[in-house]
Amino acid sequence: MTQEMKHLPGMTLPELRSFVEALGEPGYRAMQLFKGMHERRVESFEEFTDLPKLFREKLSGVSILRTLRHASKHVSEDGTRRYLFDTAGGNPVETVFIPTEKRDTICFSSQSGCALKCDFCLTAKLGFLQNLTPGEIVEQIIFALNDVYGPGTETPHGTNLVAMGAGEPFNNYENLLKAVSIMNEETGLFIVPGRITISTVGIVPRILEFSELKRRPNLAISLSAPNDELRDRLMPVNKRWNIDELMSAAAVFQKSLRRGERFTFEYVLLDDVNDSKEHAKQLASVLRRYRLDRVKINLIPHNSAEALDYGAPSIERVEAFKLALEAEGVSAYIRKPRGNDIFAACGQLAAKQGKNPVKALTI
Ligand code: SF4
Repeated sequence: MTQEMKHLPGMTLPELRSFVEALGEPGYRAMQLFKGMHERRVESFEEFTDLPKLFREKLSGVSILRTLRHASKHVSEDGTRRYLFDTAGGNPVETVFIPTEKRDTICFSSQSGCALKCDFCLTAKLGFLQNLTPGEIVEQIIFALNDVYGPGTETPHGTNLVAMGAGEPFNNYENLLKAVSIMNEETGLFIVPGRITISTVGIVPRILEFSELKRRPNLAISLSAPNDELRDRLMPVNKRWNIDELMSAAAVFQKSLRRGERFTFEYVLLDDVNDSKEHAKQLASVLRRYRLDRVKINLIPHNSAEALDYGAPSIERVEAFKLALEAEGVSAYIRKPRGNDIFAACGQLAAKQGKNPVKALTI
């Protein structure tokens, strides 16, 4: 991509309008472009059949529709699809499509690699490579929808997006929010904020900023340890903002919640590390202290992966942890791992090119 080439999927409608007007075209062409890219999800300039040929040619000389290069796709036995892309600079990007009976969920990445070094996460092993641009974020969703439903189809109602792929979304805040606003547009993908969840490990100033937004996605905070000693070890971000600071920010966010918005905690269960009944009690007591004990907790059994020293807890341990939380008055839900066999599950995204030696289907 040359410096001047505009990456169109990352532009808002007003930006597109200025862009087309600067090319000497009427402003309404911006809406045609936007609809083509996000509503019909076209893949090439030739497919913009409602635009004059001359304009399409002009566009292809100064802008591009795709920057991500699709590198591979793996399909799990449970239908989960994991995509690997390369950015123009050659950095890996991963996206996971998770079908369920009721609705689809697309788990997208906000960064390539990650700087935060959570000890149980494979992405951390890559280190930080780059922040993804708004267009690179939007492209992941368009690619997954086109792969499953084909271009030109309507985006299925109720598609959920979760920023739980590679990276810490709040460390790429502006780009993330811009991508979200592009995806919210009624004349485009029309994925409303209530269908989007941002998962953070606890970048406290951003949580506070997020609390003040008028229109925003749902928030999930990944806790994964009930005390500072353990959290410092598992999630080094805790040394910057400890549990006390994180919970205080979470309490501010809770107060800002409006009807229909969702707020959850996530807790990755690591076998014999943070999953005892005593840990559950400590967790409940932390939540009570900040009056956060009505916030739902998603329990995510760790997916054991090579290159990590942590194991997956048995289902008995997971159930016991859940019951211990419930006994303390905290609602907990066990998240079923998806795409385990293709390294698509939580904490497993590490730009793996090869298929799982055990069971993955590569197509
Ligand atoms: S869990 Fe998230 S924040 Fe932590 S290292 Fe992995 S990608 Fe980064």
